[in-house]
Amino acid sequence: METKFIHLNDLVRADCHDCQGCSACCREMGDSILLDPYDAYQFQRKEKPLPVLLENGSIALTVWEGMILPHLQMKETTHACSFLSTDGRCSIHDHRPGICRLFPLGRNFSDGKMNYFLLENACQNKSRSKIKVSKWLGIEPAGAYHNFVLEWHDFRREMVNILAEGEEAQTKQLNLYLLQTFFLAPYDTTGDFFAQFAQRTARIRAAFRE
Ligand code: SF4
Ligand code: SF4
Repeated sequence: METKFIHLNDLVRADCHDCQGCSACCREMGDSILLDPYDAYQFQRKEKPLPVLLENGSIALTVWEGMILPHLQMKETTHACSFLSTDGRCSIHDHRPGICRLFPLGRNFSDGKMNYFLLENACQNKSRSKIKVSKWLGIEPAGAYHNFVLEWHDFRREMVNILAEGEEAQTKQLNLYLLQTFFLAPYDTTGDFFAQFAQRTARIRAAFRE
């Protein structure tokens, strides 16, 4: 079946009614739930800065196409997300990462644009309701967040290409610099995230032009 791509303002059958006791997609996810800088900002806003979460083991680092990125850590014993409570609820629901918000949708990037699509058969709840994609994501302003995700995707691709060309010592240094810039260095949580993100990407791109 051909994948149907949808837009931010389209309706999609994604609303699983607060999961109703299911926590299937919070378990056995390995290192696949990658975080982005907006997630880091949200964690910091809730007084859980990433350096602390890395230290206590609820977040870990992985290498994605040569780039070091943080991800939600599954518990060694249960293989459940570190933020899943014993009664099977997300303990950080209001600031859960973007990938958690998105499920059971996926993102498609092509021709400099980003669309969404429903991951058929991914969600256990078969009686989901229709909801607007923007409402399902629940981040305002929805357009700015959408643009940020697209920009982070493009920026990561640029960095992956640069990392692929460098010597081992250089790539290590750049990786640590990127990790520090986007995930470990504090954001001004009283200020606009999207402006701060734009400043940080501009600073790194300028450094490569020098
Ligand atoms: S599989 Fe669907 S219903 Fe179950 S936790 Fe995930 S999103 Fe919720
Ligand atoms: S952060 Fe919450 S929603 Fe995301 S995987 Fe963990 S428990 Fe599930």
